[in-house]
Formats: sequence, C-alpha cells, structure tokens
Amino acid sequence: MNDQSELFERLWSGAATLEDWTASVADGVAHGIADDVVAIHTSYFFGNTTAVRTAEGLVLIDSGSRETAAQTLAALRRWDEAPVHTIIYTHGHIDHTWGARLYDQEADAKGFGRPRVIAHRNVLNRFRRYDVTHDLNSLVMGRQFNQPGYTFPDHHRRPDEVYDDSLRLDIGGVTFELMHGRGETDDATFVWLPQKRILASGDFVVWVFPNAGNPRKVQRYAPDWARALRQMQALSPAVLVPGHGPVVHDAPRVSELLGSGAEALESLVTQTVALMNTGSSLDAILHHVRLSPELCAKPWLQPKYDDPEFVVRNIWHLYAGWFDGNPAHLKPAPDAELAAEISALAGGAERLARRATELATSGRTRLAAHLIEFASDAMPQSPEIQATRVEVYEHCMEAETSLIGKAIFAVYQRDAKARSGG
Ligand SMILES: [Zn+2]
Repeated sequence: MNDQSELFERLWSGAATLEDWTASVADGVAHGIADDVVAIHTSYFFGNTTAVRTAEGLVLIDSGSRETAAQTLAALRRWDEAPVHTIIYTHGHIDHTWGARLYDQEADAKGFGRPRVIAHRNVLNRFRRYDVTHDLNSLVMGRQFNQPGYTFPDHHRRPDEVYDDSLRLDIGGVTFELMHGRGETDDATFVWLPQKRILASGDFVVWVFPNAGNPRKVQRYAPDWARALRQMQALSPAVLVPGHGPVVHDAPRVSELLGSGAEALESLVTQTVALMNTGSSLDAILHHVRLSPELCAKPWLQPKYDDPEFVVRNIWHLYAGWFDGNPAHLKPAPDAELAAEISALAGGAERLARRATELATSGRTRLAAHLIEFASDAMPQSPEIQATRVEVYEHCMEAETSLIGKAIFAVYQRDAKARSGG
C-alpha cells in the first residue's frame, strides 16, 4: 500500500483529517486515475481540477482558485504539454472558475487558440450578480473565512457556451456527459465519462456535511442536491472525483459516499417539510429535526464546514417566506429598545452580562448569546460588558463544530474586543 492509499484508508475510517490530506498534496499533485485522466489537487480548501487527454487536446473539469491555480497549471504541465481544448465549470464558485484566465493567458503566450469554456446557463446569472454585489461578497467571504480585508475577485471568465439540462460532448474520442442539478448552487454540473466510468461530481461531494445551509449566502437546494446524488449513484461510477478532497476509487465506496450524502439531505428535508405541513414554527422545527446517529458517524458527513441546523433553515426558506411563525418577529421592535426594556426588567445590563457568563461557562451558549446581546445593545458604550461579550463568544465558538458557525461568532468577538478597548 503506498502513502496516498494508506492516507485514504485513514480518511475513510475517520482516523485522518482533511488537513492531513492537504499536507500530502501541498504545492500541487496530479493524481493518476486512469489512462489519460488525472485529478489535480492543491489543498482541501480549494477545488480540484480533473484533466483528460484527448486527440484534440486537454479537457479540464474546473480550473482552480486564485490562491492555487498557478500550482494547478504547473502540475498539469508536468503531466502534459498539449493545449487546453475545453474547460467545463462544475459551477460558478471562484475556487473552480478563477484559474480559467491562466489558460487564456497561456494560450495567448504560446499562440494556441484559447480554450472553450462550457457551463450551465445560470453561471452567467451568477457572474452578473457577482458584478453588482462585489463589496458584499468581499465582506461575506472575509467573515466566513475569518480573513478581515479579504477582496472578492472580479472580471470573472464567462463561459463561451452554456446549456440547460444536459449536454453530451465528444472531444477527440472521449465522451463527456454534462448533467445539471441544483445543490449548493443553482448552476451546478456533474460530469460523467461513460467510457471510463469516471464521475466528476463538483461540489455535490466535498467530504464534509453538504454545504446546503450557509447563513450568509443565497438560497441552497437540499432536495435537489439529494436527487442529484441519487442520479450519480445510479450511474454506478467506478471512480469519483469530488469537488474537494481525495478521489474515491472503489465502486462500492463511491456508492456509499453518494448514497449516505443523499440520505442525510433526504432525512432533513422529509422531517422539515413534514413539520412545516403541520404548521410548526421555525423554532419548533430547528429544535426537533435530528439526523440518525449512523449518518452523524460517517467521517465524510461531519459538520465541519456547514451545520445541519443551518440546512434546516435553508429548507424552510426554500418552501416558505421569511416569517418564522413567532408573531413578535413579524414587526419587531428595534433591538436597542427591546434590550433596554429587558435590561430594566432584569435590574440592569450588568446583571444580564453576569448571567450570560454563567450560562456560557455551563455550556448553555445559545441562551448566553441572547443575554449578552441584550446587555450590549442596552449599554453599547460599556467596555466591561464588551469584555464579557468577548468571553461569551469564546464559549460560543468552542461549542460550534462548523467553520462557518465559528467564523460568524468570531466576527462579533472581534467587534467586542475593539469596543472593550482590549
Ligand atoms: Zn468548491
């Protein structure tokens, strides 16, 4: 067993982490999948690229991110020097599309024709949206990844050709079947190579719990995501190249990965919609819906990036409006007015802050966050209350498993630190 397959076994059993895997592919590795097919990895955190050699040139599925696309290109060129004929985007997220510009530049420098870029039609809508919300995206991404000052890319490389439901391409003797599904995004494509039984799933598979709930992003599509995973499972792939993380080579394991991901999403959707149909409030649903211990135990379904509770919110939002079923939330009082009232009733903002500390240190971080925000809104100028807020959010961050949950609390902890004078 070589080092990579040994590491894979440890990832599959949950003994190794995705950080361990990132360390093993740092600087760019072209991982051989079949004759004429490699997956290029640079880091778990940025999307994989699949490269296919054809008689007409190379076909790439995704192109890498701003941070690592140069490493992806270098790894590709260590493998093959041929011009890039076509780039397929699995979706319009920047860690999959940004690198396309490098292949345009390379083609111009070497006198090749530029590659043709193909994607689902909604990638065009996405890039239009990115143009009008550039500063918002900088802010949201900076907060999500805990990088204040982050700047979102601009000048997105548009696709040259788009499709709607499915598209078959025959390029230099190799068949590529592009199929559209909605999941993390509404512009997603998974790519099936029937001759080799290789599936490039894009971010429908990312080795952690599906990112179908992200609090700061546009709508995600949990039910469609599950359907797409079932569609992929029905193809019986021999090899799966996920959007992020290592390639899965064994057909029964590919089936298990796809099937368990679908089952997790189906379970959340079924439970949430059943309760919505009984007229339950969002609050009741959030605190009632649960995943089975078997699914929670799967190493590739760990809530390290997104959180199943956020997915439930997004399912609610897919089927219903923003009103959550609590009449006080229909036309709420300004936060500061409510905080002043609660604080007066409690005997002062300091008492609320003290109680928040007690709750946070005893593990009741949800309640603690409410009380410390009341205290902070009631006495916004108090450095002592802000210092308590720093501590409370430290406990809140520790209580979260997801990168997104931790990062959002970190944003408000930074705010509290600045206002505490510390
Ligand atoms: Zn991605």
